[in-house]
Amino acid sequence: MYQLIVHGGAGTIAGEDHQAAHRLGAELGLAAGEAVLRAGGSALDAVHAAVRPLEAALCFNAGPGSQLDEDGYPAMDAAIMAGRDLRAGAVAALCGSAQPINVARAVLEDGRHVLLAGAGAARFARERGLPLGDPLAHVTPAARARLAKRRAEGSRGTVGAVARDVSGHVAVATSTGGTVGRRVGRIGDSPVLGAGTLADDRSGAVSATGDGEAFLRTAFAARLLVRLERDRGTLHEVLMDELHEVWRRTGGRGGAIVVTADGRLAWGHTTADMTVAWATEASRGA
Ligand code: ASP
Repeated sequence: MYQLIVHGGAGTIAGEDHQAAHRLGAELGLAAGEAVLRAGGSALDAVHAAVRPLEAALCFNAGPGSQLDEDGYPAMDAAIMAGRDLRAGAVAALCGSAQPINVARAVLEDGRHVLLAGAGAARFARERGLPLGDPLAHVTPAARARLAKRRAEGSRGTVGAVARDVSGHVAVATSTGGTVGRRVGRIGDSPVLGAGTLADDRSGAVSATGDGEAFLRTAFAARLLVRLERDRGTLHEVLMDELHEVWRRTGGRGGAIVVTADGRLAWGHTTADMTVAWATEASRGA
C-alpha cells in the first residue's frame, strides 16, 4: 500500500481562477508522483517526480513562479530527503534554475554535502550538467507585480510532497521561491532539515509551508516527527497542536503535510487556505 500527498503552499488563495490553477497544478504533481508509486518505485523517486510539475506550474511560488527578493531576483530553496537511510540534498538561494529540486536531488546523490547555497549551488549544478539560465529569464509579470507591492497577494504557494512506498519507506521534497521582497541572502525553512523538511522511516515525513522564520525558530519538522515517534494520538490533532504552538510562540502561521511510518496521512494549516491533493492505492482526494 502506498500513500502520497502534495501541497501548493499555505496562505490565502484568492479568486476562482487562482484556486482552479492551484487545484490543477496539485493534480499534475499528484499524478506524476503516483505513477512512480503505482509502478513499485521508491518514495524518494515519487516525491521528486511530484515536485517537478509543481515547480513548473507558474501559479506556485517555486521554480519560474518564484517570489523575488528585494533586488528582484528569484533565489530559490529546495530539499529532498529519504527516510530509509536519511540521505538528503538541499540547495538555498539558488538562482537561474527552473527545477531546483533536480539540483537538490543531485546533491543527495553526490552524498558529500547536504546543503549548498548561492554561487556554490549554482556551480555544482553546472558541473552536474543541470541547466542554469539567466536568473531573470523566468521571472513572471505576476512576481514582478508582487515585489512592486511588497506583498504576497494573499497566496504564497511553496510546493512539497511526502510519500510512503509499497516497501514502507518514506520521503519528502519541498521547493520554494521564499518570501516576497526578502533580504538578499535570506534562507527560509524549506531547505533546512528539521525546520520545513524532514523524513525518517522511524516516524514519517513532513513538508511545511508558511512563515519560514517561525518554522526555523521552532525546529518545526523535527519536533513534529519526534512527537510522532512517541505520541499515538490522532495524527491530525498532533499536527494542528504543533502548528498552533508555532503560531502561539512566534506569531508565524503556515501549514504542513505528513505521512507516518505506518501509512497515515494528515495535513493542516493555520492560514486561511492550503492547496492539497492526496492519493493512496485505495482512494484519492483534494
Ligand atoms: N516557507 C517558505 C519560506 O519561508 C515560504 C512559504 O512556504 O510560503 O521560504
